[in-house]
Amino acid sequence: MKDALRSPAGCPVCRARLRGSPRCSRCGADLTALMLLAAHAYILRRAARQSLRQSDYQAALASAQAAQRLHSTAEGTLLCILSTAAASPLSEQPQKTARDLADLR
Ligand SMILES: [Zn+2]
Repeated sequence: MKDALRSPAGCPVCRARLRGSPRCSRCGADLTALMLLAAHAYILRRAARQSLRQSDYQAALASAQAAQRLHSTAEGTLLCILSTAAASPLSEQPQKTARDLADLR
């Protein structure tokens, strides 16, 4: 599962495309807090993948959901779905699949 540290899609003030700078190139808004949230979400998603590898599915789900609340990404959505399936006590198969997928990077 690929997961890059991604900046938020656009400036929350003017919607200009972000270019990795802590200041919006169009309106000059300070984007430092926004970028810190995205970085924290990235760290939480990494922790979720590690928890999946260690078969700690509840921790994986908690980390994946926390990451999505901070900065939602498509990869984060998949990680939440995977963690939810792995945390389900209905079957062992989702847990094996989740561990296998967490190793795909
Ligand atoms: Zn802006």
